[in-house]
Amino acid sequence: MPETYDLLLRGARVLDPSQGLDDTVDVAVHNGCIAAVGRDLQGEARQLIDLAGRLLTPGWIDIHSHIYAGATTWGVHADAVCLATGVTTIVDAGSPGWANLPGFIDYVATVYRTRVLTFVHVSGIGLTHGPIGECEDIRYADPERTAAAIECWRDVCVGVKVRQGGFQVGDNGVEPLRRALQAGRYTNTPVMVHIAIGVPLDDVLSEMRTGDIVTHCYQGSGDGILGLDGDIEPAARQARARGVLFDVGHGGGSFRFDVARGALARDFPSDVISTDLHAHNIDGPVFSLAETASKLLNLGVSLEEVVHQCTSAPAAAIGRPELGTLALGAVADIAAFDVREGGHFEFRDVAGDVLVGERRIEPTLTVRAGTVYRPEELAAEREEAVQRARRMRAFTGRNFAALGWSPPDL
Ligand SMILES: [Zn+2]
Repeated sequence: MPETYDLLLRGARVLDPSQGLDDTVDVAVHNGCIAAVGRDLQGEARQLIDLAGRLLTPGWIDIHSHIYAGATTWGVHADAVCLATGVTTIVDAGSPGWANLPGFIDYVATVYRTRVLTFVHVSGIGLTHGPIGECEDIRYADPERTAAAIECWRDVCVGVKVRQGGFQVGDNGVEPLRRALQAGRYTNTPVMVHIAIGVPLDDVLSEMRTGDIVTHCYQGSGDGILGLDGDIEPAARQARARGVLFDVGHGGGSFRFDVARGALARDFPSDVISTDLHAHNIDGPVFSLAETASKLLNLGVSLEEVVHQCTSAPAAAIGRPELGTLALGAVADIAAFDVREGGHFEFRDVAGDVLVGERRIEPTLTVRAGTVYRPEELAAEREEAVQRARRMRAFTGRNFAALGWSPPDL
């Protein structure tokens, strides 16, 4: 008696680091879940898609983004961007703080077709308005209220966020981080820490626990993981030895090819790849997780490791090991790509440096809980998200001017 499936994906190279699987096999989906993985699966399928020559992986997980659109200056409408580029789970990195999390639940998390999760900012205002450091006034940083918010919406909240650059914390040093860690201890969740110039790296990393996440690991603004001598800071190696994770968090100002190259040459790869997608980089230099992953690929990270850092590694980092896998019975979150070889592809970092590479990971198909999405079907929606981001940038620019900042071109 042949099986009946909703969807049969035939003939791709299937790479699933969660199961050590790398083989040319078929993947069958039924009732929104992975029903079978194997060679030449027999059976009837309502929808059959030939993926010969393509790469098929578990759906990608982007653990650093900003998608609280309308409520924060960084927020973008990223649903179409995700579903056009293989991302089936997107995690906001602390746009909502403990005070405005309920709006994020109502207007983002429950509206997207992409699975939405979030880190909750220890500052109640979250990342409301770019020009104001959210922990300059330490009264906003409240571990008890942060923990309470996480407990109330545990299905969406995966941890705590804090930004530890001088601009964000003012004169408060690592006190915001200490409060974030307290919230992490209350809820037994990881703390994601943005590192940036203005607070010594040693002071930040020495506080962090096993499973906490450094984001912007390849930033080059100062107080980063590469010392002035070009070597990896001892504090970074010590933190890694303790089990602190290092996340790319590309962003608009936090990923430089020279830093990534230096770190990789000194055997300091990232643990997780993420975009830090927001209104100031959705139309470059970030674009998508696949574009960010392609940069790491062309810097010498293997395709297998890149896929690991976009699937099972982020799933483990956010305490959701049931995601990022094609295990039987798992939710059918799947990504398919055309991995192009021997081309001439140009990539840009936040400093405008250009990397010319031969390989590029191009998304061709996304399956979210059994539903198939193709990039071409989402092109118009994606373009609208870019236009909305540009409008938000213009608005934010006007506010910068009012505060005496020089505005960008309006
Ligand atoms: Zn961010």
